[in-house]
Amino acid sequence: MENKGKIGVTTENIFPVIKKFLYSDHEIFLRELVANAVDAEQKMKALAQSGEFDKALSELCVRIELDEAAKTLKIIDNGIGMTEEEVDKYINQIAFSSAGEFLEKYKDQIGSIIGHFGLGFYSAFMVAKKVSIDTLSWKDGAKAVRWSCDGSPEYEMGESDKKDRGTCITLHIDDEESEFATKGRIQMLLDKYCKFMPVPVIFGKQQEWKDGKYVDTDKDNVINTLEPIWAKKPAELSKEDYDKFYKGLYPMAEEPLFHIHLNVDYPFNLTGILYFPKIKDKMEVRKDKIQLYCNQMFVTDSVDNIVPDFLTLLHGVIDSPDIPLNVSRSYLQSDANVKKISGYITKKVADRLEEIFKKEREELENKWDNLKLFIEYGMLSDEKFCDRALKFCLLKNTDGKYFSIEDYKTAVAPVQTDKDNKVVLLYATDVDAQYSFIEAAKNKGYDVLWLDCHLDSYFVNMLEQKLENCTLCRVDADSVDQLIKKEDASKVDLSENELTDMSSLFQAVLPQGNEYYVQAVNMGENAAPVLITQSEFMRRHREMSALGGGMNFYGEMPAFYNINVNVQHPLVAKILSEKAAQVPVLEGEADEAAKNEQKGKVEAYARENALLAQVCDLALLSAGLLKGKALADFLARSQKVVEDAYLK
Ligand code: ADP
Repeated sequence: MENKGKIGVTTENIFPVIKKFLYSDHEIFLRELVANAVDAEQKMKALAQSGEFDKALSELCVRIELDEAAKTLKIIDNGIGMTEEEVDKYINQIAFSSAGEFLEKYKDQIGSIIGHFGLGFYSAFMVAKKVSIDTLSWKDGAKAVRWSCDGSPEYEMGESDKKDRGTCITLHIDDEESEFATKGRIQMLLDKYCKFMPVPVIFGKQQEWKDGKYVDTDKDNVINTLEPIWAKKPAELSKEDYDKFYKGLYPMAEEPLFHIHLNVDYPFNLTGILYFPKIKDKMEVRKDKIQLYCNQMFVTDSVDNIVPDFLTLLHGVIDSPDIPLNVSRSYLQSDANVKKISGYITKKVADRLEEIFKKEREELENKWDNLKLFIEYGMLSDEKFCDRALKFCLLKNTDGKYFSIEDYKTAVAPVQTDKDNKVVLLYATDVDAQYSFIEAAKNKGYDVLWLDCHLDSYFVNMLEQKLENCTLCRVDADSVDQLIKKEDASKVDLSENELTDMSSLFQAVLPQGNEYYVQAVNMGENAAPVLITQSEFMRRHREMSALGGGMNFYGEMPAFYNINVNVQHPLVAKILSEKAAQVPVLEGEADEAAKNEQKGKVEAYARENALLAQVCDLALLSAGLLKGKALADFLARSQKVVEDAYLK
């Protein structure tokens, strides 16, 4: 008996409307239909287990069949099937009315809907111009039913010739959606959404290369071969299981460093496995992402609002039926469950790292260089994580030894405490460029940390705020005697006017473009005649603003260097005394004009002074500041000095 009826949707011809609105997410129809099929299988399994169904149960599976030429796609299951009454109730009334409700409810924010809304059976109409259902219920004496609908709110229902139990949904793919009638696209969608479905999902046959082309073998092409091991208990799993699973998820990625198995059932349900990938120095493009599942059904790999930003660097899967999937992103951020989930994951990550720190310290040290960027990023972006991480974060020194922050502070305190009772932690960012400074510090009995990651200027700032009575200072921020000030610097025996002339003298020969502060210091006759340093504070703030920290005031300023003139060095003494002989120092208070005239004279003298140029250039060279013409001039001048010394 043929039955005709009208589907209970309120809006006339609702399909084109839905199609248009949900355009970007058309592909989810396949996930929804396979999920329905899997549900029907699971219900069948339950009936068999309870004894309600007492016949032998053949192997349950979902088959996807595509006819590219006819543009039909079939989703076939051997689950519970539906009787005529059930089709009427679930498809005609419920499925379609819920679609109507859905539209009604979200009509104002349809643009912001992300598409994970479980439209169910109805979503088939996003890609099909006609959909039919052939179904035979498991119930004794049930008759097979055929239902079909061409996209208008009219449906037809009648008898079907389906012989075996279960449901076959046939989609006649719309011409505009013909990509969904291609094998490649369907395979891709099944791989994406159905990798972990709990019942085998089969798409045609496996293929092999034979006689110059691919041909079908007789083996089923099963989509979900990778076991969703996150649903198991950690005790049942070995490291190999976790590694194998990771490889299955991200075939191209390098082996991960550590994993965390998440498992919580109160106050929300969440399982999953997160992996720490190797992260090299630069922030890599995050191509391998955390995947979010809902009862083993893939939902999304954009978890930005569900886990804190720094955790999106992790890989792996999260499965939770409690993350609302049918709402907009802005809503997600304020959802209480989502907030709890995010907090829980952060805590779990910190717990696991602390455990590794306590129990697998050597492992942690071995992997630290690849883990460091992640931890530092976490500490800088998440206050709670930071407070936890202060316990397990490691510091590496220039000898390649690792310390916990607290241990390190304690170890260096006896030697590296300054006159104000602050422990000064010294660090280098480039062991080659700062070599001589590092050596000088070590010779003095200091230890030097090695912070070479591009987040480190922020990290140093953060450490200073978090650690009590502690400052950090780069080894080249001052002369070694002044790095950690034990007592006030000894006074230099030069008058005000002598100091002014000394400043003009050096300023005249230093390269343009930077700012210099020339100061007289006592460093002893064995130290360098001139030492160029950069104040920790200025340098750090410039670096942070270069990284985009918003402190543009510093970023826009020219680089600022301290020119430490070692007045105890014989070469400096010679330069200063020769200058004084040629251009005598002013006596007492002078007026502006006299000062300017003096400055001009000193500068003119300086520019003709080869010794001064040579001494300054050596200092610039050792600070990595001698470049271009200045470097060429220096080399020519040096060659002449060598020739004079050896050939004459
Ligand atoms: P939902 O799955 O969210 O309940 P759907 O619109 O996808 O909504 O499906 C409505 C109902 O139709 C299902 O709850 C189920 O009872 C029935 N149904 C859909 N597909 C199948 C199937 N393949 N086998 C058996 N019943 C099905």
